[in-house]
Amino acid sequence: MAKSQVRRLSERPRMLMFMLGVMLPAAAFIVAGVWHLRTIQRDKAIEAVFQREYQQVLAIAEKRIDGRAYEIAEEASARFPHASQGDKLEGFLVSHPDIAHAFVWTGKGHLESQSQPDRMSNPEFADEGKKFSSMIGPWFDLESKDWIAKLKKIEAMEGRHVYITSNWVTRDDKMQYQSLVVFMPRGSTAEHPALGGFVYDTDYLSNKFFPQALNEVLPNQNKNDTSHPQPVMMVRTAKDHTPLAASICWDGGSPEVERGFDSVFPGLILGIKLRGTTIANISDHFVRAAFLILGALSLLMGGGMLLAYRNVARELALAKLKSDFVSNVSHELRTPLALIRLYAETLELGRLSNPGKRQEYYEIIRKESERLSSLINNILDFSRIESGKKEYDFRQTDVADLVRGTLESYRFEIEQNGFQFEQKIDSDLPQVCVDREAIARSLLNLVNNAVKYSATEKYLGVNLYRHNGGVNLEVVDHGIGISEKEQPKIFEKFYRVSDPLVHDTKGSGLGLSLVRHVVQAHGGEVAVESEPGRGSKFIITLPPQTADVQQAKGMSA
Ligand code: ADP
Repeated sequence: MAKSQVRRLSERPRMLMFMLGVMLPAAAFIVAGVWHLRTIQRDKAIEAVFQREYQQVLAIAEKRIDGRAYEIAEEASARFPHASQGDKLEGFLVSHPDIAHAFVWTGKGHLESQSQPDRMSNPEFADEGKKFSSMIGPWFDLESKDWIAKLKKIEAMEGRHVYITSNWVTRDDKMQYQSLVVFMPRGSTAEHPALGGFVYDTDYLSNKFFPQALNEVLPNQNKNDTSHPQPVMMVRTAKDHTPLAASICWDGGSPEVERGFDSVFPGLILGIKLRGTTIANISDHFVRAAFLILGALSLLMGGGMLLAYRNVARELALAKLKSDFVSNVSHELRTPLALIRLYAETLELGRLSNPGKRQEYYEIIRKESERLSSLINNILDFSRIESGKKEYDFRQTDVADLVRGTLESYRFEIEQNGFQFEQKIDSDLPQVCVDREAIARSLLNLVNNAVKYSATEKYLGVNLYRHNGGVNLEVVDHGIGISEKEQPKIFEKFYRVSDPLVHDTKGSGLGLSLVRHVVQAHGGEVAVESEPGRGSKFIITLPPQTADVQQAKGMSA
């Protein structure tokens, strides 16, 4: 008992090492994974990445839209009439229908202004033209110098000739956004400075310019493709949330990320979102998928560790059984050898005058050497089976004869030990094909166990009867019995029940594993029925024609 406790203690550090070496890193991996995902979720890290990414997309988009606006305005300014030809403004407007008003300023109080002739039938538009000209004239009278300096600077630094800014007008009681383009027309000189300009109407911006520019910025939009979320864009005024213009796939709602236009379209805002979904949805989806993957991985890892744990536990148990086996076997070898030596020496001295005593000593020597050879036979059989070299010599056999013969030489000894011995052998048994020696040794192993593990009630029964065309061989005792939990394990190699009653009995833990191997090699089975304290019954079932040519090799125990 004390010994096995010591051993169990020495197993603990190994299990502890296993837990530390495998389970701790795995647990740390899982905890770190969950913590990391929770941080991502809490800090809205994925949303932040999208926001940053979209801010960059918007900055690039703004640059491209600005570039397009300059291109168009430069092109139109190149066709603008000479500073001295204010009368040609109308012709310019006819060839540029997208422009609402145009003007040329040639000095204080000298402003020529024209509105798109096509639309002059609309009194509101005509009025707007008038207002525009009455606003722009005094403005340039006052600030022409600043304007000219600004335009020269732009030309010198950026190579552009035009300056574009916003121009708000009220139409239908609503503020409308227009773009005002200002430049120095041909004919403007240092002595006679001139300023020219025109206004792009809000309709043109919202129906033509921005939709085209946005679709150029997002070239691969496909209205029918809903398989993945596409980015879509819109432009709105800072005061109004309804879009002024949007890219073709815009599906309503509000943009997720916005950026105010800095230079060309002050007062306008560029927005982006994902079609059919939101960044929060995508982030949720990602985090959920990551949790699922982590969960699946953790399960796999848990399963793997369970397998590894069971394997390690089994290996440890086997190692313990092996070390028990070595100490048991050495003990079992030493005792009979010591006895043989002691009695042989006594006889050798020739001092024993009592012939009865001498006879007794001879008997002890014979019995002990028989015990030795049966133990050595078991070990040899076991080693042959383990190395796959065990061969059987199957012969048609009268099992009744075999059992009777095997037990005969033991009957006397068994009865002398105080055992009640009952042997029931049916008369109409079929012949079966067996390895005589292997079956005889299996029977002896069972008989030896019955004798070894019977403490108070000494009974041994051997029954042989016909069963399903074959034969059943039973060995019955009224000994210490085996608990139900232990019953499946006793057929494993080296296994011995850890019970003080068993511990005090010598044994190697090989006997039953050999019996099972031999019986299975005959195509049969060995079973046990037992109740602790009431005894056990081992039943060997041999089928009718046991595989006559079987060359069973290898150990299955
Ligand atoms: P051992 O050399 O220990 O007897 P075995 O393989 O023959 O090895 O038996 C394995 C274990 O099964 C024994 O240690 C014992 O605990 C239990 N056992 C076997 N036969 C009996 C029996 N007839 N009664 C009670 N326990 C038994």
